[in-house]
Amino acid sequence: MIPMVDLKAQQNMLAGEINTEVLKVLDSTKFILGPNVNNFENEVKDYLKVKYAHTVASGTDALHLSLAALDINPGDEVITTPFSFISTAWAITYCGATPVFVDINPKTFNIDPLQVEKAITNKTRAIIPVHLFGQTADIQQLQLMTKNTKISIVEDCAQSFGAKVNNIQTGCFGDFGCFSFFPSKNLGAYGDGGLIVTNNSKLSEKILMLRNHGSKKRYHHNIVGYNSRLDEIQAAILRVKLKYIDEFNNSRKNIANIYTTNINNKKITTPHKSQNSDHVYHQYTLLADDRNLLQEFLTKNNISTAIYYPIPIHKQEVYKKNYGNIFLPNTEMIANSCLSIPIYPELIEEKVNFICKTINSM
Ligand SMILES: *Cc1c(COP(=O)(O)O)cnc(C)c1O
Repeated sequence: MIPMVDLKAQQNMLAGEINTEVLKVLDSTKFILGPNVNNFENEVKDYLKVKYAHTVASGTDALHLSLAALDINPGDEVITTPFSFISTAWAITYCGATPVFVDINPKTFNIDPLQVEKAITNKTRAIIPVHLFGQTADIQQLQLMTKNTKISIVEDCAQSFGAKVNNIQTGCFGDFGCFSFFPSKNLGAYGDGGLIVTNNSKLSEKILMLRNHGSKKRYHHNIVGYNSRLDEIQAAILRVKLKYIDEFNNSRKNIANIYTTNINNKKITTPHKSQNSDHVYHQYTLLADDRNLLQEFLTKNNISTAIYYPIPIHKQEVYKKNYGNIFLPNTEMIANSCLSIPIYPELIEEKVNFICKTINSM
């Protein structure tokens, strides 16, 4: 079976370096906020070309702490996309604020700025666009829209590490950029991890306090804080992997290019790629009228697939009672027809070609 990701292949390739670095951490017995976290934050800051980079315990925490740093509270509204992983909405709910879900652009699967504009009220405090599947959202349009307003932008970059818009890294446009190092993400740790970036020094200070018990000086607690830190073992692993991220993302782009060039089944739509956008293909997602039939056919041919995401967030059990009356047609249509096929840096060309041929033969 061709899997959706092959973490074992990546570990086999990097084992020499990674195992050495992990053992060094074990011997150092410095496990929390030590030299690896510090060095990783500096290295990732240089890579993303941003002023401040602070690691946290997960991508979910990155989003939550960002909204907390912006003082988002009950009564506030935050506009976001319903076509994402649930964490995007959790962050808003954790702050007691109200998620306002607006429809997506059916080509890019990302939040539609025109719908955002219509949803803005005097309670709107922030917008969370998601750079879904590694394709950049229409972030410059959102920036224009919020210029000279008090509305903040928090970018969900969990799936877009290394993606750029006009040569600027995602995460650097908003007040905050939030990344996840969940193992299967483009830059993945060997456990949970996350990152918050910002160019704003005040907001940067606030994140440093929030992630470490609301404290600047040890045992002096100024605000309600959290325990949300990346550990040294994960930071050591991420430092190794960061050196290869361009290589990994280039492999993904190359595979996507083969798919887009060779898949020519009339019943299937290959993903659109926006101009000015450097898509890093966290996922390669097809659209098919009979998505379930395609999935069954590929399974029979030993090709794994996945549905990201089968249920839009506003229709999830936990949220649906509050959103029963909204209809977001593009989101529903895409959720009913999307199917992601294998894409990961170690996927060899022979298998990519086999997948194309199989899809075309249906
Ligand atoms: C993975 C993911 C998150 C959450 O990241 P974790 O590190 O798993 O908490 C948030 N948003 C999106 C879009 C994601 O894909």
